[in-house]
Amino acid sequence: MEETIPPEQPGNLQDYDRAYREFNWASMEREFDWSHGGVYNVVSEALDRHCRNGRRDKVALISILADNSVNTITFGQMSELTSKFGDGLLKLGAAKGDRIFVFLDRSPELFVSILGIAKMGGIAGPLFSALGPEAVRDRILDSQAKIVITSPYLFHRIIPILRDISVVEKFIIVGKDGVDNEKAIPYEEVLASGDASFQAVAMEPEDPYIIHYTSGSTGKPKGVLLGHKAMMQQAMSCRYVVDLRDDDIYWCTADPGWVTGTSVGIFGPWYLGNTIISYQGRFDAAMWYSIMERFKVTVWFTAPTALRMLKKSGDEVVSGYDISSVRHICSAGEPLNPEVIRWGMKVLGRRIHDNWWQTETGAPCISNFKCMKIKLGSMGRPLPGVVVAIVDEHGKPLPPRKEGFLALRPGWPAMMVGIYGSKQRYRDYFHVPGWYISGDQAYMDEEGYIWFLGRADDVIKTSGERLGPFEVESALIEHPAVAESAVIGKPDELRGAIVKAFIVLKPGVAPSDKLKEEITQFVRTQLAYYAYPREIEFVASLPKTRSGKIMRRVLKAKEMGQPLGDLSTLED
Ligand code: ATP
Ligand code: MG
Repeated sequence: MEETIPPEQPGNLQDYDRAYREFNWASMEREFDWSHGGVYNVVSEALDRHCRNGRRDKVALISILADNSVNTITFGQMSELTSKFGDGLLKLGAAKGDRIFVFLDRSPELFVSILGIAKMGGIAGPLFSALGPEAVRDRILDSQAKIVITSPYLFHRIIPILRDISVVEKFIIVGKDGVDNEKAIPYEEVLASGDASFQAVAMEPEDPYIIHYTSGSTGKPKGVLLGHKAMMQQAMSCRYVVDLRDDDIYWCTADPGWVTGTSVGIFGPWYLGNTIISYQGRFDAAMWYSIMERFKVTVWFTAPTALRMLKKSGDEVVSGYDISSVRHICSAGEPLNPEVIRWGMKVLGRRIHDNWWQTETGAPCISNFKCMKIKLGSMGRPLPGVVVAIVDEHGKPLPPRKEGFLALRPGWPAMMVGIYGSKQRYRDYFHVPGWYISGDQAYMDEEGYIWFLGRADDVIKTSGERLGPFEVESALIEHPAVAESAVIGKPDELRGAIVKAFIVLKPGVAPSDKLKEEITQFVRTQLAYYAYPREIEFVASLPKTRSGKIMRRVLKAKEMGQPLGDLSTLED
């Protein structure tokens, strides 16, 4: 029997089936100023528009720095700051279409930089501030970035690779204690040189405003370009998936270095005129709950890894805080284990709404909506206006419950407009006629709910059956001793592959052979005969990308004694 949670009180989307039948993107276009003669530019719509519609003095950003100090910036101020910075960049010699990287901690300057770049027609390249020098070098060289905006301490981190990145003409440095380098120029100077009345540069829908590198879970990260037209779907998904309303205090925990951090973390909510929170510090369960309490966060967007860490930190922690203001929770980026949803219901008292998308899709495409029942373990149903199918290698849609390629009909508004520097890599996504092939495997049930199996590369062929790691991992973490797990197929002469599980135990639990046996017995009863792990290894942690995704390919390569491949996004 499928385990379900009933719909919550109606959200912004009231009737999914009707919306799916009737929704068209033209209705969304009319909400933007460009459709009434305004300038076509994401920043004009995210900021400048609000100076004319009564939100000039509304708080756009609450930026909590690592030392706990708080900056608040209104839409009016943000609009001016980005005009000054965008104009300052032009005066510095930057031009429309230039790739300009932002290598900063989460701070007001990070936001001003990204939107200032897009405002002058540039392509912003946000880089997560935890990236190491090699990862920064790879991205700069791949995209031939001309300018890098950074801080003194992050500049020092990339000194070892400075000689390799001579393509960079200027480093704009945020922070007083300057940097001694002939290419360095203070951020304040660039800002001061710009004009506050500078108007956003008119762009074409397909012109890119941002370049996001993928997480590197399956290989070398790709430089995905998103176009200004993505605004339609980012606004739409923030209304219907994230369920934002005018008075919300919204916290998306994803770093702007990843697509979630900008599409539904900055741009989407700002199109709708919402107040967002940004927290500079690293993950800490107590700190996170205290932010929700202190700022009365109402809507919270996070990821399975963070939720599993919160769960692991113990339920006593959360009970010390009043987080009753939180009315809606979303999760994306990795499969959301049913056990985590159950925990959310028990401890947070809220449903967690899983939604699926990729850097390449630019915005959520499949989601659990408030007005729908949640089937635990399912990613939900397609976004109105987006056609999703499970297809075979010829593009033929498969019947319910048949596993295949998770595919989208090309043309959804936030679809990437290119992979930087490689037309071929872009075309590869469309090799099956009529479809965009996501690289994930899934099936759809009779009600149109989509169930994730795994990435195509991670699907395990064992005893003649195909098995997704997610199913086994989800069963494993239901065992009280297990905090996290990753499952791979280990080549085996007899069975093709056997299931091997890497397990992180909860704090204080001692590893033993007896425990392995107990865990095996525990999952054996819940899974198909071929799906239980024949091998278990206890590990202190799992290899993850900096965006928090389990890198199963690294476990697999290690297991097989093969080269580990691109590790530029591996966490320490
Ligand atoms: P790379 O493309 O470099 O290998 P990546 O695919 O992890 O890395 P992202 O674009 O950040 O890079 O992540 C998209 C992928 O994340 C999806 O293809 C899917 O495998 C996974 N994913 C995202 N959301 C979900 C979800 N709700 N459920 C299951 N998987 C998800
Ligand atoms: Mg990918």
